[in-house]
Amino acid sequence: MFSGTYQCNLSCPHCCVPIEWPDRLPIAAALRFVDQAHALGIRKVGFTGGEPFLYLEFLLAIIKRTAQLGWRFDKIQTNGVWYESPAHLNAALEAVRSAGFSGKLGLSVDKFHGLDMDALALFCRTARRIFNRDEIVSLNYASKRPDQGLEPMHRLAHALGAVVQWSDWLKRYLVVSDDMTMTCQWNHLAPVERAESLGTGWEWDGAWFQEDYCEGPGQALVVTPKGEVKPCCGFASDLDQLTIGNLHTDSAEQIVQQAREHPYVGRVFREGLIAIKEDILARDPSAIPGATSNQCFLCWYVLTRGLAQDMPGGGGQVGRWTDWLPNVNGERIPLGFKART
Ligand code: SF4
Ligand code: SF4
Repeated sequence: MFSGTYQCNLSCPHCCVPIEWPDRLPIAAALRFVDQAHALGIRKVGFTGGEPFLYLEFLLAIIKRTAQLGWRFDKIQTNGVWYESPAHLNAALEAVRSAGFSGKLGLSVDKFHGLDMDALALFCRTARRIFNRDEIVSLNYASKRPDQGLEPMHRLAHALGAVVQWSDWLKRYLVVSDDMTMTCQWNHLAPVERAESLGTGWEWDGAWFQEDYCEGPGQALVVTPKGEVKPCCGFASDLDQLTIGNLHTDSAEQIVQQAREHPYVGRVFREGLIAIKEDILARDPSAIPGATSNQCFLCWYVLTRGLAQDMPGGGGQVGRWTDWLPNVNGERIPLGFKART
């Protein structure tokens, strides 16, 4: 999973990406990493950001190479409102299709994102036409529970002449019209990084998550614009504590080995986060204030507070994100809830 740029045209209050950082992942370094990953047997690639479409040349170069190598595609995760005109949108999606992309466009639609429904609807219709696939777009929303935060989905459905339906078979909501079927992927909202100030206690919701050894959000090599490689795109992934290598200095093989040997990452994948939590509570029953059903939130809490064995604490940005701060172009943009109210 590549994040070629941190930059984004939006500044969502729950975002844990440092969108004002100007780093970009050099294309040549990313291609070298693709070749190394191919030799290790990796055959799937996806894109996240920031906003991946703001670094289109990167997107196209990686898609072309991985398509040539026969890889499968995961999503390009996008906010869908980055384009300057319909012609710009058309050209960018056409270029991505021509490069060989056969995955999905994962569109973020919730109360934290742009909420320009006309622009989102145009994105969906244009993608449908250019890729000629009724399931080309899938939707993502962040909320506290799967049945919460669906209002923007309903508004998008209305703009598309579609309806929102629950699928017993897929165990998720769908947005369905005559010529599009979009599955809705729920992301568990957590008060971390920029969204730390959203935490008022609800994050400790009284139930422990089920162990999955990070199979949901993790078990991927996520490459940041600085070249750092993380084991996941979970909420805690921007913490330095989860860095398992850097593609500027390490080969893919070395990075996988370093992940296995990492005192925290290796243990999370082998023994599970619940084993780490039990260790912490055995040492100090008051170290964790409650139970949470959000594994990545617990991971972030444990790491920022330095609770895990052999791991330093640090990171986290309480208060840091709730202000007008300069982005990469030096423009001051509002980050966080306080500036928006
Ligand atoms: S969550 Fe919002 S600000 Fe963050 S990368 Fe996505 S669209 Fe941009
Ligand atoms: S629990 Fe931690 S290591 Fe696992 S996916 Fe979430 S952030 Fe990543």
